[in-house]
Amino acid sequence: MILEKLADYKKKRDFNKTTEPGDEEVSFDWAEGQLVFVVQKHQASSLHYDFRIEVDGVLKSWAVPKGPSTDPSVKRLAVPTEDHPLGYADFEGVIPEGEYGGGTMIIWDRGTYRNLKEADDNGEVPSLAVQIEGGHVTIWLAGQKLQGGYALIRTGKVEKARWLLIKMDDEGADARRNPTSTEPNSVKSGLNLEEMREAVEKKD
Ligand code: MN
Repeated sequence: MILEKLADYKKKRDFNKTTEPGDEEVSFDWAEGQLVFVVQKHQASSLHYDFRIEVDGVLKSWAVPKGPSTDPSVKRLAVPTEDHPLGYADFEGVIPEGEYGGGTMIIWDRGTYRNLKEADDNGEVPSLAVQIEGGHVTIWLAGQKLQGGYALIRTGKVEKARWLLIKMDDEGADARRNPTSTEPNSVKSGLNLEEMREAVEKKD
């Protein structure tokens, strides 16, 4: 099942060239067995933030051009991308020029998350897979930069569907905070994009 979900991910990549992870099993000492999320800042052909949440053994992914906001009045476009392997939550570095997603990537934020949906009339809490299918996801993030509720909502007709990432109004909300500009560095290495690129070039 997981292998099927990752077929698209693998097809797009040449693992002789990229250092991105394959489908090896991983566990994260920072997650303590809980579900993980990661937001990667990715300078590819254009700068964006890859927002990923663990669902049924893979990372469901959206590319968010402007990155997540902490202001509940702000709606950020989120474009679905292919499922990524769980190991991707630990990846930062440089994807070679000319390869899929070529450019520098840092782990801008990461942590654990939980399902915020309440039980339906049958007493069942909708799974994240069901929520994604239905185009309405609500989760609570416990990251280093992002905290509190976030909603991912699909809007518009099927052929013109788009997703929006919206901060929910709770104690993690702050209209004056702007972490994408004031906290640009990796939560893993402490490096910014430029420093990451230089570090990798020096190593090669
Ligand atoms: Mn990306």
